[in-house]
Amino acid sequence: MEKQLQQTTDNDQQSKMSLLRMLPGTDHILELAKEDIFFENIPRSLLLRAVREVIENYRRLVLNGDKSITENRLSDPVILEAVKGYVKNKMSPNLRRVINATGVVIHTNLGRSLLASDAIENLLTIAGTYSNLEFDLSAGKRGSRYSCVEDILCEITGAEAAMVVNNNAGAVFICLETLAKGKEVIVSRGELVEIGGAFRIPDVMAKSGGILKEVGTTNRTHMKDYVNAIGDDTALLLKVHKSNYSVVGFTAEVSLKELAALGAEHHIPVMEDLGSGMFIDFSKYGMIKEPTVQDSVAAGADIVTFSGDKLLGGPQAGIIVGKKDIVSEIRQNPLNRALRIDKLTLAALESTLRLYREPEKAVEAIPTLRMLTLPFHLIEQRAGQLEEMLKSSAGSRLHIEQMNRSSRVGGGSLPLQELPSKCLGIKVRGMSVNVVETFMRENMPPVIGRIEEDFFMMDLRTIEPEEFPIIKTAFDMMLKKE
Ligand SMILES: *Cc1c(COP(=O)(O)O)cnc(C)c1O
Repeated sequence: MEKQLQQTTDNDQQSKMSLLRMLPGTDHILELAKEDIFFENIPRSLLLRAVREVIENYRRLVLNGDKSITENRLSDPVILEAVKGYVKNKMSPNLRRVINATGVVIHTNLGRSLLASDAIENLLTIAGTYSNLEFDLSAGKRGSRYSCVEDILCEITGAEAAMVVNNNAGAVFICLETLAKGKEVIVSRGELVEIGGAFRIPDVMAKSGGILKEVGTTNRTHMKDYVNAIGDDTALLLKVHKSNYSVVGFTAEVSLKELAALGAEHHIPVMEDLGSGMFIDFSKYGMIKEPTVQDSVAAGADIVTFSGDKLLGGPQAGIIVGKKDIVSEIRQNPLNRALRIDKLTLAALESTLRLYREPEKAVEAIPTLRMLTLPFHLIEQRAGQLEEMLKSSAGSRLHIEQMNRSSRVGGGSLPLQELPSKCLGIKVRGMSVNVVETFMRENMPPVIGRIEEDFFMMDLRTIEPEEFPIIKTAFDMMLKKE
């Protein structure tokens, strides 16, 4: 018995050795690459790295006793193919386009909001030319970075002043740091939110130097709770919009309007973090009513902060609107330099904001809004189109079902909003759903769907009809590969 074991180990050892001897050297593969037109314009440093890593990878597989490594897989052409694959991968950008078939409209992992074409156009122009970013063209001297968006932000929201930073987390942080460092900030216990990515109100407060003074309870906070908490050290009354959760049942909260009146009485500024700010009343489109930025300004908030790339559908940005003297104080905070918005973002933001001058057009032109308000009958029609396309090519091996599902708003916005949608659920005969999902995810460009029971699911709300041919080709290639 022992002898037999010894024998097997010796054999393994021998076959490993012979496989290792078969591995070509770097120079040999480099010579072969010279003859191959594919490598003609590939930088030498990348080629060298590719060859070394591919050979090293094979060596590791052999040493680990990987049974898939046979003599055939160590032949020159196969190794050269592997080098090509490596090079191709490294030559294409790591950050790449994907097709969002998840039905989550503001998908944080997939880039949140898509820009409107006006915004993209302006961004491209500004990217390649000099601009008046911080130059006042009428005065002929240094100007402010925000002047291009301040005016329109005030026009839309009714605020006295506006500024923008890198994102809303930054906006909340700089506001707290400016207004409440070393002083108390009163917040209801029902509003101590955590949004994704480790942004929690108590933590941001601590970092900014503000001292959190919690009042009320999780489900009920009253006026008297705020009144009793106000003292000499109170610097700010903060209201945080419950963007990604809801408190239902026996509840009470103090409205922004009431809070603003209280603040005015005590000469304490009132701030609202709206999270995903909106300029349009979504209830017009049959959706849940989300407070608009205009509502918050009109309610008397001194400062309102919100995201540029959630429900607004613009680029990543943190927008701050409010009273002139307070915004000006925030602007002068040295942190502002660290959080400053870049010019490409500004270009895209300005164009996005301009679209809101005509809300009906904004809903059409801004992809996030268009997808959120896409009528069910259109989604259904698109599901039918894609189904036909897939059937016509991939034929009988595909089992396709149209299914009614609900899309989601995403981005921590409107968690209770149902968005009735159509999905295509796909099964491929002779192939597990995991294999299908992986193939689609590794396609160029990747098609990101989800698995539900044994179906690969694609939600038609977030797929543009222009993307249908890409999906069709992906399925064709998947079935051909087998
Ligand atoms: C999303 C959100 C933020 C952070 O906004 P980002 O633009 O992602 O930085 C802050 N507060 C609330 C309430 C939010 O919903």
